Amino acid sequence: MTMKIPLLDLKTQYAALKEDILAAVNDVLDSQVCILGPKVAKLEEEVAQLSGCRFGVGVSSGTDALLATLMALNIGTGDEVITTPFTFFATAGCVSRVGAKPVFVDIDRRTYNIDPAKIEAAVTPRTKAIIPVHLYGQMCEMDSIMEIARRHNLFVIEDAAQAISSAYKGKKAGSFGNLGCFSFFPSKNLGAAGDGGMIVTDDEALYERLLTTRSHGAKPKYFHKFVGGNFRLDPLQAAILLVKLPYLNAWSAARRRNAALYNELLAGAPIVTPWIHADAVSIYNQYVIRTEGRDELIAHLKAADIGTEIYYPQPLHLQECFKDLGYREGDFLESESAAKEVLALPIYPELSEAQIRYVGEKILELY
Ligand SMILES: *Cc1c(COP(=O)(O)O)cnc(C)c1O
Repeated sequence: MTMKIPLLDLKTQYAALKEDILAAVNDVLDSQVCILGPKVAKLEEEVAQLSGCRFGVGVSSGTDALLATLMALNIGTGDEVITTPFTFFATAGCVSRVGAKPVFVDIDRRTYNIDPAKIEAAVTPRTKAIIPVHLYGQMCEMDSIMEIARRHNLFVIEDAAQAISSAYKGKKAGSFGNLGCFSFFPSKNLGAAGDGGMIVTDDEALYERLLTTRSHGAKPKYFHKFVGGNFRLDPLQAAILLVKLPYLNAWSAARRRNAALYNELLAGAPIVTPWIHADAVSIYNQYVIRTEGRDELIAHLKAADIGTEIYYPQPLHLQECFKDLGYREGDFLESESAAKEVLALPIYPELSEAQIRYVGEKILELY
């Protein structure tokens, strides 16, 4: 017996919410409020509240959340920003786009998140900010990171694209740093029907500055205080996200339940299952295992019609576009070995127990 199990299945979720989503889209179209407006404002309020922050700023993507943030903080030429090389490209890409220099710090072997113990050695007089990335849905050790930032007077920009409503020591992603950046890319726990993102913050002055940055730095309209961009969240996406938001906690809980079953099924296999910090509650945007025999495992699962993905196969310090930064192979051994060994399995909330057991069986079959 075989079962086709894709890495992610968005159609099942859509089928369950179709009527409500179509009605919400219809509301926006009938209103013809096609830029910002009440749907965006409502989503901003709700995502800020969910994250334990005062303010939310809806933006065009997770990437633009990071870019607008760096622009609003006036980070640019001559500045350095510390981050992890084991992340989606956008994290460091945005630092380069504003003219600043990404400075990489290796990850912790167990969490795949930036290793706080290695951050301080990378701080220089030019360092302006740290961008911790909450990878796969598990938050970084934010108390240590905030402590370092305070000592050196650095901004902290949480890349929480994979970690909306994730928690560390009972506090939500986005609420530790000066700001938190979320993505509503369709594969994230809260996904739009296209691109979208959100910035959350407690800092009112920064909030005002972000609103201006999102609309070309104009205040009032046609009078530009500084150079911003068009980083606005589409109200059609906001309307769809408002329909989905009430389900987010249940979806993340279902991912945790699926992860627990995988952990149990794979306990005997010679592979490493995810390690979650005792102080963290992961939202499992990805369930990532680790094995030296990854290629063989991918082929085996592919033959069984099971989808997998590598997040991420090449660490950022070794990307061609960053060769001018001067990094070399061997500079960040944990990131390099993770890139060679990690593999994401299907973890989406709608998976049935039978499907997870099937994936587990197929993996065990190999050993
Ligand atoms: C998805 C993601 C982004 C970018 O978000 P987009 O909405 O796709 O632009 C940035 N950082 C991380 C860690 C991500 O996973």
